Amino acid sequence: MMQTPLTLVSMFERAEKFFPKKSVISRTHDAIRRFTYKETGARIRALGSVLEKLNVKKGDKVGTLAWNHHRHLEAYFAIPSLGAVLHTINIRLSLDHLAYIINHAEDKVLLIDEDVLPLVEKIRDQLTTVEAFIVMTDKAVLPESTLDPLYSYERLLEDGDEQYTFTADIAENDPAGMCYTSATTGKPKGVVYTHRGIVLHAMALSMADTAALSESDVIMPVVPMFHVNAWGMPFAATWLGSTQVLPGPMSVPKVLAELIESYKVTKTAGVPTIWLGLLNEIEQNDYDMSSLEAVLCGGAAAPKGLIQAFEQKHGIPFMHAYGLTETTPLVTISRLKSYQQNLSNEEQLDIRAKQGMVVPGLEVKVVNDRGEVQPDGEDMGELLVRGPWIADEYYKDDRTQDAFRDGWFYTGDVVTVDGEGNIKIVDRTKDLIKSGGEWISSVDLENALMAHDAVYEAAVVAVPDPKWQERPIACVVLKEGAAATKEDLIQFLEPQFAKFWLPDDILFLEEIPKTSVGKFLKRALRKQVEEALEV
Ligand code: AMP
Repeated sequence: MMQTPLTLVSMFERAEKFFPKKSVISRTHDAIRRFTYKETGARIRALGSVLEKLNVKKGDKVGTLAWNHHRHLEAYFAIPSLGAVLHTINIRLSLDHLAYIINHAEDKVLLIDEDVLPLVEKIRDQLTTVEAFIVMTDKAVLPESTLDPLYSYERLLEDGDEQYTFTADIAENDPAGMCYTSATTGKPKGVVYTHRGIVLHAMALSMADTAALSESDVIMPVVPMFHVNAWGMPFAATWLGSTQVLPGPMSVPKVLAELIESYKVTKTAGVPTIWLGLLNEIEQNDYDMSSLEAVLCGGAAAPKGLIQAFEQKHGIPFMHAYGLTETTPLVTISRLKSYQQNLSNEEQLDIRAKQGMVVPGLEVKVVNDRGEVQPDGEDMGELLVRGPWIADEYYKDDRTQDAFRDGWFYTGDVVTVDGEGNIKIVDRTKDLIKSGGEWISSVDLENALMAHDAVYEAAVVAVPDPKWQERPIACVVLKEGAAATKEDLIQFLEPQFAKFWLPDDILFLEEIPKTSVGKFLKRALRKQVEEALEV
């Protein structure tokens, strides 16, 4: 058959050609704006022409430090369509890590949101490869800044060529994007995405048995566009001609609820903390959420109580998925099989709270620490993945050897697989708690605690123990106005777990420290707990 390359150029060209009237709705710092795909296509072309004038060539890296908005979406297509590499940078990283990844990736140009300029100014002297800075702002005048040369995105686009044709000779295995993922220790690790990988991932994400994305959807990625390409949603949504709602900076629960209501969002995606926040908002104030057909939740385990509250209390379908930066990211998605539809609510919830089955196109296996394949059932092991949208190395990084071996990617996640092929993440290898030679899953305890009516968030960490080696300690944030004691919560857990699993202590906190992408920051929490308990 024909060997036509799978590239990102054809994705936005399809939207431009067949869906010129459909819209991208974008919330920026100053306004909510609407662009048709015809206008978006013209702006992508103008940006391409502008970047070319700034000497961006095939293989060059262009960094973005930006929230989810239309300009970021334009960069998503213009940069790879030139054959250059879209390097999305996590703006919540430390200055030290920001400087490291911009230098390590060798970014030539940076596209920066106005509110992020001060961060870049602070590290300007350390940047060794950047030749130009472009500020993405609605304002007519350039903000005061020490960055030089600094251009205004909109001014550049005014002089750009809206008819520009992308002519770069792009092979499907050429790099299109890159993203750095935080490591437990050491510097962040870079992952490079190819055109082919992104296109195939978008196809897999859109299937009826995965996230079932469609032209008729109104899609709102809340997951940041600097975190694994907002899980590939902007690519898939553009390709299909779906309406997109890009929620912009500081998208607090109230803003999200208002956007869902105003634009009748059908599918949205984000980490559990986002959905905990939204749940809180819609329980306190009246919103019409009836347009929602799927709330996609991944990046950390979705507590059963969260799924239950969305579905049973509010009638909002919830979908649990799993993946990593290295996997573009979709690996598994949790859906019921046709013959499971008549199971009881409780049984269905048990299945849907797992991370789910591997999506078509990928292969997984589970191995123990001797490298032996674990049978399905109770046996835990590390999850390995391979497939056309799984990275096969870290960018210029020795840590490649640890994670990519024998044609497989070692995820570092400990899982079990049930008889139906559903994967359940038990823990990160480093977060499992080993007590008296037995493993305790921090994730299971957290999920159980978060199912308690008074609990807003819960995270469980190990503390060293002279007798048992490690013991679990739970940290709990209570819902506003709710009350529960340590004894209440232990009593609540007792019927659900073996006695040795029960936390030795429960600490009540104001908040749980989070990573830059909204996951529990176990490292910081462990330190906080050790200080509080003086262990
Ligand atoms: P990142 O590369 O930042 O996206 O983080 C990937 C890690 O997040 C995985 O290795 C898992 O430990 C965790 N993760 C992602 N999705 C889920 C999920 N649905 N349930 C539990 N953990 C998850």
